[in-house]
Amino acid sequence: MTHYDVIVLGLGGMGSAAAYRLARRGQRVLGVDQFAPVHNRGSSHGGSRITRQAYLEGPEYVPLLLRAHELWADLERDSGRRLFTRCGGIMVGTAGSRTITGSVASARAFGIPHELLDAAEIRRRFPTLAPSADEVALYEPGAGLVSPEGSVAAHLQLAARCGAELHHEEKVFTWSTMVGGVRVGTSHSYYTADRLVLCPGAWAGELLRDFGVEFTVRRQVQYWFAPSGGVAGFRQHPVYLWEGDGYTFYGFPAHNAPADGVKVAFHTGGRACTPDGIDRTVSAEEVHEIATVVERHLPTLPGAFLRAATCMYTDTADESFVVAPHPDEERVVLACGFSGHGFKFAPVIGEIVADLVIDGATAHPIARFDPARLLA
Ligand SMILES: Cc1cc2nc3c(=O)[nH]c(=O)nc-3n(C[C@H](O)[C@H](O)[C@H](O)COP(=O)(O)OP(=O)(O)OC[C@H]3O[C@@H](n4cnc5c(N)ncnc54)[C@H](O)[C@@H]3O)c2cc1C
Repeated sequence: MTHYDVIVLGLGGMGSAAAYRLARRGQRVLGVDQFAPVHNRGSSHGGSRITRQAYLEGPEYVPLLLRAHELWADLERDSGRRLFTRCGGIMVGTAGSRTITGSVASARAFGIPHELLDAAEIRRRFPTLAPSADEVALYEPGAGLVSPEGSVAAHLQLAARCGAELHHEEKVFTWSTMVGGVRVGTSHSYYTADRLVLCPGAWAGELLRDFGVEFTVRRQVQYWFAPSGGVAGFRQHPVYLWEGDGYTFYGFPAHNAPADGVKVAFHTGGRACTPDGIDRTVSAEEVHEIATVVERHLPTLPGAFLRAATCMYTDTADESFVVAPHPDEERVVLACGFSGHGFKFAPVIGEIVADLVIDGATAHPIARFDPARLLA
């Protein structure tokens, strides 16, 4: 039986990045995923993810985002794929909303280039948006979108090039630590390694049963519409995040148009589900609900409904991540609980995981992601 330096469980957004960074640093890596490469049954599909650095979720994330944007550029260069579309990003809400105050605080703390716009200026600059008189925006020219499928494919391609062994359509049923290493049992075989990295996405609760941290999986739907005025107005268009009264939604430019229309989704709400039991059909009521909300703020959207795809958020109680050595198992590193906003960090999470596995520590600021905060 081959013994590896490290086994990476899960080869989605985070696990593919971790496998690459570990293999690139000379580790003998086995990566295992229950599904085929670049699948649509987890959290890393749907053609686009927002990335931004004026981070409303808190300034402690910003150093990681500065590094992530460098690594996105490296990943594009090294894989030969176009992954990052720098179309700018606009965050809209009332002046006192968390979306505005949080974004402004992060932008100011780190000197992230940005502009503050009042409602009239928003309408003038971005005619598709119809803010009410009391709404304002932070515009971030360096924001944009990344391709989740392209990123997973790029990381897997580079991991394999660096010698990682990648097993797909192989499900992990058990993992345990033993003297001198870890043992992983899958649908095909048993494997041993010095260390284990857990990047299971929505399956975190199942693979970390006695861990004591609660992960809530939320079903979130991505919707594509053909704007009533045509896609032209959405071609040169920023990504946006809009905090309304009791909900937040977001959307993208027509970056694949006309084939794909324009994508919008709710960030808030979404019913609890399990990763294997999720209802993948999207009802007419759900389409109607988002169409009604979006139309209030972008009158030429929705237009005609094209299609929808379900996805999953894996939330922790405070909606921040778990990226740390396992508190009870020194040979295990955790990267999970990304709470619906992790994708933009994927390359830097890979770098951090490689630091934790190889060096036992990282220079990146990850205190915020210590699971101890959730165990108390
Ligand atoms: C609708 C939607 C919109 C989002 N928008 C944004 C956004 O705009 N910006 C942003 O930054 N983030 C966004 N996110 C969040 C981001 O996409 C996720 O945080 C990220 O994709 C999580 O990656 P992951 O590797 O943890 O999960 P996944 O990519 O799902 O990977 C987990 C992998 O583990 C595998 N696995 C699990 N259990 C086992 C097992 N027992 N055996 C073998 N394999 C196993 C799974 O098959 C899967 O491939 C969004 C998420 C969704 C759903």
